[in-house]
Amino acid sequence: MVLIFLAFPPIGGLIVLFYALQDQSQFWMTVGALGYIAMLVGAHIKWVRPYFRRFPWVGGYGELYEASKLLNWRHPKLVRKAWRTRILRSAYRIGFAALLAPAFYGLYLLHGHHFLWFLGGYAVAGFGVTLGYHRIGTHPSFKAHPIVKGILLSMGGMAVQGPAQEWLKKHSKHHAFGETSADVHSPYVFDEGKRAIFMEQVNAFLHSFMMWAFREPSLTKPRGMSIEQWKEHLLANSPDPKTFRYRDEDAYHWEARDKAGNVVASTETLIKKRWARLVDTVVGIEKDPVVKFVSNPFFYLALLVVNFTVPYYLGGISVWETLARVCFLNWVTFGVNSVCHIWGEQPFVTPDNSRNNAVIEILALGEGGHNTHHKAELWAQHGAFAWQTDFAAELVKTMRRLGIARDLNLPSRQQILMSWRQWRQREPWMQGYRMKTYVEGAPKRALKKLKAQPSER
Ligand SMILES: [Zn+2]
Ligand SMILES: [Zn+2]
Repeated sequence: MVLIFLAFPPIGGLIVLFYALQDQSQFWMTVGALGYIAMLVGAHIKWVRPYFRRFPWVGGYGELYEASKLLNWRHPKLVRKAWRTRILRSAYRIGFAALLAPAFYGLYLLHGHHFLWFLGGYAVAGFGVTLGYHRIGTHPSFKAHPIVKGILLSMGGMAVQGPAQEWLKKHSKHHAFGETSADVHSPYVFDEGKRAIFMEQVNAFLHSFMMWAFREPSLTKPRGMSIEQWKEHLLANSPDPKTFRYRDEDAYHWEARDKAGNVVASTETLIKKRWARLVDTVVGIEKDPVVKFVSNPFFYLALLVVNFTVPYYLGGISVWETLARVCFLNWVTFGVNSVCHIWGEQPFVTPDNSRNNAVIEILALGEGGHNTHHKAELWAQHGAFAWQTDFAAELVKTMRRLGIARDLNLPSRQQILMSWRQWRQREPWMQGYRMKTYVEGAPKRALKKLKAQPSER
């Protein structure tokens, strides 16, 4: 059975769905769930990929999907090919859905409408955090009417991760000072010399997971202080260069040198420069009227009341069940901060240890494409490669089709192609992949441009 999944998910998935609906046994539902997880995670793990590559008909879905994207140029000769891959891609998507359906149905049989309320609440708060707090709030990666933005931010408020203003400011700080001693939640807070000590690693993980929330000072504007005074106050309190620490491998980012190896910009200068930029961002968030409105304590409290009472009165969902849902989503978000800075793939070179993690991608509705996100904060799509899952990007694209979101900042095929090429040069396990496969069908103009660009490192 497992072989059938791996061989051809559309058929494997439909077989499982058929049996699960027929006898409604927990067995087939579990098989469906495990098959789904195996497919997605398997496609993501380094040691599985080379085997997939050798038998293109087995695990070719990632490649087909990627090729279909790349072949999508408006080139007359490619139109037919693109249609073929597009049909295959749809078949694979249906297969994935068919594998997942029995598992969801099984949970529905076990918990009835309680499960549906869980899913609904999780989607509302989850998409609120990803699209509202993160992709439009902190990083303006797409545009929307202020009312739509307000609704997305309010949905994020349902996740009980604090008012938007504070969340947005702290997350901006994470991007400005990732993996340094000034980061909000880096798992590399220990001294370089202590990196190998197990307990140091455990403490660092706990810090990046949850403990940072109790330690990180607030970035709220004190009462009675004008915005100008507050800005000056912030500028005067930049991280101290004497105690500032960063990872050895990020030295190129925190100490600019010329080709001869002479320091052109010292760490102190770079900290000052990045801090000034961060202060501008933080002050911008403070001034944003929509963010200010939804961060009003009374409005935020009202959101919390709605969050707990609506499921209680309309669906008989107890406060404890809502709390469990809130807790689960919070752990997933904490996972983005911690897990995605420790385990996963690094297709892009960034001055931090950010990673793309398949499991967090699924749970956090797309936020697990964290390395891609650190490379280009302003991309509305965190899952740039075919095997990645990014439900939030799909949703925002649907919103664009409906006319309620516009100016989406999406990665171009050229950028994906370039990063693929550099990633392959950097990591030996990628050598099994032939770039030619992906570029073959491309117009000559695009190829020439690609070759002209020198690769990083
Ligand atoms: Zn990060
Ligand atoms: Zn971000």
